[in-house]
Amino acid sequence: MFDLLKLTFREKKLVALSFLATIFVAFFSYVFVDMVQPIIDEMFGLGAQTAPAKFRFMDVIFRWLSVGREDIRNVLPLIVVVVIFGKGLFSFLSSFFMKVVGNKIVKSMRDDLYGRILYQSTSYFDRVTTGDLMARLTNDVDKIQQAVSSAMSDMIEESFILAALLVQMFVRDWQLALMSFVITPLAVVPLAAFSRQLKKKGLQSQVRMGQIYDLLHETIGGNKIVKAFTMEQFELKKFLKATAGYFRINLKLAWISSLSSPFMEFIGGAVGAFILFIGTKRIAAGLISPGDFGAYIMAIFWMFMPIKRLSRANNVIQQAAGCYGRIQEVLQSPSQVQDSDGAYALPEVKGHVRFEDVGFSYDKDRPVLFDVDFEVQPNKMVAIVGLSGAGKTTIINLLSRFYEPTSGRITIDGIDIRDVTLASLRSQIGLVTQDIILFNDSVRNNIAYGLEQMPEDRIVAAARAAECHGFITELPEGYAAMIGERGSLLSSGQRQRLAIARALLKDPPILILDEATSALDSESERLIQTALANIMKNRTTFVIAHRLSTIRNADMILVVDKGRITESGTHEALMKKEGIYRMLHDLQFPEVEETA
Ligand code: ADP
Ligand code: MG
Repeated sequence: MFDLLKLTFREKKLVALSFLATIFVAFFSYVFVDMVQPIIDEMFGLGAQTAPAKFRFMDVIFRWLSVGREDIRNVLPLIVVVVIFGKGLFSFLSSFFMKVVGNKIVKSMRDDLYGRILYQSTSYFDRVTTGDLMARLTNDVDKIQQAVSSAMSDMIEESFILAALLVQMFVRDWQLALMSFVITPLAVVPLAAFSRQLKKKGLQSQVRMGQIYDLLHETIGGNKIVKAFTMEQFELKKFLKATAGYFRINLKLAWISSLSSPFMEFIGGAVGAFILFIGTKRIAAGLISPGDFGAYIMAIFWMFMPIKRLSRANNVIQQAAGCYGRIQEVLQSPSQVQDSDGAYALPEVKGHVRFEDVGFSYDKDRPVLFDVDFEVQPNKMVAIVGLSGAGKTTIINLLSRFYEPTSGRITIDGIDIRDVTLASLRSQIGLVTQDIILFNDSVRNNIAYGLEQMPEDRIVAAARAAECHGFITELPEGYAAMIGERGSLLSSGQRQRLAIARALLKDPPILILDEATSALDSESERLIQTALANIMKNRTTFVIAHRLSTIRNADMILVVDKGRITESGTHEALMKKEGIYRMLHDLQFPEVEETA
C-alpha cells in the first residue's frame, strides 16, 4: 500500500493536478447539496419564514451575485447547471490525470520487468515457470494499473466528497447528525461481514479457476499425448470435477452477493425512516427548515456511494499491493551471472580453450562436475561423449557462462572468461542445441537472428551449407515465409538445419554443437556432414553426439562419466583402451566388431 503511494507520487506534477481538480469536485459537491435548501425553502416557498438563521454557503453565493430573494427562483436553475457542469469538468480532469499516471507507471514497470527477465541468468529460468512470469507481466501489472488509475483517484476523490458531505450534515443540524452516527453501526457491522465473506469466497473462486486453467494448459499443450493414450474421458472427468468445484463456490458467491444489496437497502431504509421520524419532529418544533432537512437527507443518502466506492477501491488496492510484491520479487532478484567490475571486451580470439580443475553443481547439495581439466588447441574439433545425464551439456554451458563454475577456472586464449563481458564472450561462441529455438518470424530473420543488415547472398550461402536452401525455396514464400510459433510449421530435421545455418552465418571462432544432428535422420545427417566438416575447419568446435560415427575423426574425444572426464584421446587411442568409449562404440557398431 505504502509502496503503491510512493510509486504514484513519482509523477508529482500530474498527481498534484489531479489533487487540485479533486478539491474542486468536493467543493462543487458541497454546493450541490447546499442548493437543496433554497430550492425547497424558496422555490417551493415551504420554509421561507420558519428557516432559523445559520451559515449557508448558498447565501454567500447569492450575496456575492447580489441576487435578491425574489430573483432566487430565476437564478437557481442556472446555478444548478453551472454546479453540475463544474463538478463534471473537474471530475473528468482528476480522473484523466490519474489514468495518465497509471499508464505511465505501468509502462515503465512492464519495461523494467521484461528487461530484468531478459538479463536474468540461465539458472533463474530453471527455477521459474513461463506461466508464472507471464502472469506477473500481464495480470499483476494490470492490477497495479487499475489500482493507480482508478482506485487511487477514487480513494482521493471519494474521501474528499465524503468529508464535504459530513461537513454538510453537521452544518445543517449537528444534533441530528450525532444521532445518525449512533445508529450507523447498525448498518456497518453487517456490511463488514458481507464483504469479508465476499472476499474469502472470491479468493477460493480464483484458486479454482487457476486449477481449471492448469488443466486446460496441460491438455491443450499435450493434446497429442492425451489422444495417443485415449485419455480424453479421464481428462474430461478431471475437468468436470474442477468446474463443479468452481460452480459450487460461485453459487455461494452468488448467494452472498445477491443478498447483500437488498439487505443493506433494507437497513438503510430503516435508518432513513428513523431519521425521517426525528426530522419531521424537529421541523415541526421550528428547529430546522424543511430545506435544511432536505439537504441533510440528500447528504446522508449520497454518502452511501462514496462509502461503497471507497471499500471497492480499498479491495483493489489491497490486491494490487500483493501484485506489487510479486513484481518486486522479480525486479529485485539479482542476476547470478553478471559482468564483473572492470570487465572488458574479449578481443577476437583464436579459440584456445582451457578448463582448469572445474567443478560445478546446479544446486549446492548435488555436484554435477568434478575436476574437469582439459585443453583444446585453436581450430581443433573436440567431441564430448558419454551416457545421458553424464554432464556433457553442463560442460559447454559453463563455457558460454550460462552458469558459473563452483571451483576452478575456464580460459579462452589465456583469458579467464570471468574477466570479460558476457556480450563479448557470447558473440564469439556459436551454439546449436538439442532443443532448437526458433522465433515466429521469417525464415530469413531466423537465420540472421541478431545479425541485422546481413546481405541476402550470405544468408543463402549459410542456408546452402546447412542443407536448408532446398526446402526453403520449396516454401510458398521462400526466405520470407513465416515459420510459426517455435517453428511449428517445419519438421524437426528442418528446424535443426535452420539452427545450424544460423550458427554458420554468425561465423564464430568457437562453435558448439550439442546433439545438433540428433533430430536428423541418417540421410540428412550424411548430407550436412560435409557441410559440418567444412565449417569446423577454421574454428574450435565442440561436438556432443550420440552417434559416434559423427565424431570418429575428432582431434580429441573426451569421455564423460558421472561428471568426470574418464578417458580422452583420439578414436584409435580410445578404441585400444577397452574403456567406456570402446563399450559405447561396440554397442552402436556390433557388426564392425565382428569383422574387426
Ligand atoms: P548430458 O548433457 O550429459 O546428458 P547434463 O549436463 O544435461 O547431461 O546433466 C548433468 C546432470 O545435471 C544431470 O544429472 C542432470 O539431472 C543435472 N542437471 C542438468 N541441468 C540441470 C539444471 N538446470 N538444474 C539442475 N540439475 C540439472
Ligand atoms: Mg545434454
